[in-house]
Amino acid sequence: MGTLQLEVVTPDKTVVSGEVEMAVCPGIEGEFGVLPKHVSLLSALKIGGLRYKVAGGKEEHVFISGGFADVNNDVLTVLAESAEMAQNIDTARAMAAKERAEKRISSHEEHVDSVRAEAALHRAVVRLQVAQFR
Ligand code: ATP
Repeated sequence: MGTLQLEVVTPDKTVVSGEVEMAVCPGIEGEFGVLPKHVSLLSALKIGGLRYKVAGGKEEHVFISGGFADVNNDVLTVLAESAEMAQNIDTARAMAAKERAEKRISSHEEHVDSVRAEAALHRAVVRLQVAQFR
């Protein structure tokens, strides 16, 4: 069936680099799958989980904080502000981030940037969801 190259890159590190049989990305308009020989594509991603399958291996899950996916010539490149493999997600940290964001949102104080707090809450909740696939 063939494979494609998956690269998940953030400003500080390469989180995934390898041959995969397929990947499913959290596109802003819904999930989309990428198989070998996929047509060229550029899509914005939302905060979500990306999953992929290595030949003969199990399915792996990666947290993506939003960004872009580019498919070209059997290379899927995902550029994200932050990304972590499910097994590398620090759940205590995500839980603390979730509580912090919830407090900020419920405080209704004027200086609170509610859009930013909602985004932080969303990242924390999705990290906790993706961490379940470790
Ligand atoms: P926090 O408030 O805990 O920093 P955040 O959502 O603001 O969470 P980000 O800005 O998305 O964090 O990421 C900053 C850096 O910290 C990135 O390198 C990201 O991979 C890492 N990171 C954030 N939260 C976690 C986590 N729960 N487990 C592992 N790495 C994390």
